Amino acid sequence: VNDRAILINAIRDIPDFPKPGIIFKDITTLLSDKEAFGVLMTHLHDRYVSYDLTHVAGIDARGFIFGSALAQMLGVGFVPIRKKGKLPYTTVSEKYSLEYGVDEVEIHIDAFSAVEKPRVLLIDDLIATGGTAYAAANLINKVGAECIEACFVMGLDFLSGQSKLRDIVEVYTVIGV
Ligand code: 5GP
Repeated sequence: VNDRAILINAIRDIPDFPKPGIIFKDITTLLSDKEAFGVLMTHLHDRYVSYDLTHVAGIDARGFIFGSALAQMLGVGFVPIRKKGKLPYTTVSEKYSLEYGVDEVEIHIDAFSAVEKPRVLLIDDLIATGGTAYAAANLINKVGAECIEACFVMGLDFLSGQSKLRDIVEVYTVIGV
């Protein structure tokens, strides 16, 4: 991305959140900065405008922010992939393992049923281990859509998440950190 420094500088490091030893990448400072948010969204629009997408699917919760903005810019629909128990209609779900325990994400069973051949971009703010995105990409396929690419604003390049995810879908990260 051009203006990489603008994006890097707009993301804030929060030490010891949500627990000691973790440096959390805080994107709220990017969102409130109209220049940085604009640089990012223009970059994503320019990349995906030629992909012939039908939907953008965003992962709970920061993926909703970037995903819904991008969907509107591209003139396509938006679909939320949520943590277990949040979606009101019939869902399909997928478990994934965390460092300790398991978590689960869900999608509405009819999320893409309005179009014949759904072509979906998956988006989230950050990929770490890749577990969340792997489960989300599987969900998209499970409900009969094609996940064309998985896109992240940030990728933690010292973790192996991206290579595992590349087994099932193309992966693009705007900035490696
Ligand atoms: P993964 O499943 O790849 O290990 O974790 C990625 C998920 O955790 C994403 O949904 C992402 O929003 C969240 N996440 C983990 N670490 C961070 C972080 O440092 N900053 C932000 N903004 N999100 C994080």
